[in-house]
Amino acid sequence: MERIIYCDHSATTPVKREVLNAMLPYFCDNFGNASATYSIGRKSRIAIEKSRENVAKAIKSEVNEIYFTSSGSEADNMILLGIARANRKKGKHIITSKIEHLAVLNTCKELEKEGFEVTYLDVDSNGVVDITKLKSAIRIDTILISIMFANNELGTIQQIDEIGKIARENNILFHTDAVQAIGNVDINVKELNIDALAMSAHKFYGPKGIGAAYIRSGIIFDPVIIGGHQEHCKRAGTENVAGIVGLGKAIEIATSNINMHNKKVSMLRDTLLNKLENSIDNIIVNANIPNKLPSNINISFPRNRCKKFTTYA
Ligand SMILES: *Cc1c(COP(=O)(O)O)cnc(C)c1O
Repeated sequence: MERIIYCDHSATTPVKREVLNAMLPYFCDNFGNASATYSIGRKSRIAIEKSRENVAKAIKSEVNEIYFTSSGSEADNMILLGIARANRKKGKHIITSKIEHLAVLNTCKELEKEGFEVTYLDVDSNGVVDITKLKSAIRIDTILISIMFANNELGTIQQIDEIGKIARENNILFHTDAVQAIGNVDINVKELNIDALAMSAHKFYGPKGIGAAYIRSGIIFDPVIIGGHQEHCKRAGTENVAGIVGLGKAIEIATSNINMHNKKVSMLRDTLLNKLENSIDNIIVNANIPNKLPSNINISFPRNRCKKFTTYA
């Protein structure tokens, strides 16, 4: 068999065998609709609520603050559109950064069409949001700050604790796209003053097509997917039970030993970086800062120095 060395875990990860095994019973055997009151329906309900507990435990939220979605993108949409629309009487200004995932950037563009005003903050050459610039972007009508926890291209981890404090002090809601951070960084939404957070199972060895949003209780938001009473009437649609079970299992594994995982991945990263630096002249390591995901390497190959690759010249 062809041996593949897969180096794009920021794009997606394989499903862990343990995760798949946890999901399998929920396709053909325990297939009940979780809204049904008979026993196979209740089995699905119990499985969903167990996963919800796992997610809450992983980010130190309350269980009723977790909503399952079809993806990380949908979680970002649900949070941004939902919170902005429900709070528009309080103000129409939103602050985000220029390096957000498109699930945030394009949703902000959509909100601009609805009359919201969005400030897109610049970042420095390491991809870090400048706290002073953030502070000076705050207006009297700012209702929401959305800054990603960790960047998918550079691996840069933002100063989430600082941003959370500033948001709370100014009575502004704070959303963070934590899709890249789950399983790599210990997250405590209460300590970090995070009001809303998005995650996606396929970035931490769970299945594709399932995500979750955390939205702090007491925050009002309009549903985006409208229909039945699922997810506390905030996200309609018959639950993806197997997917939810997969997310619940994957997050349990991913957050059970973050330190050991990071130690191992950092070692692999350093080995790869050393070999690259030894075999290619003058490579540039981007965002070479301590506060970044150990799983990320971002390098540039300067054109005129890269003699070995003639096609580049
Ligand atoms: C992958 C990713 C998303 C989107 O998640 P999907 O489940 O693929 O929709 C959002 N934000 C970041 C930072 C991501 O890396």
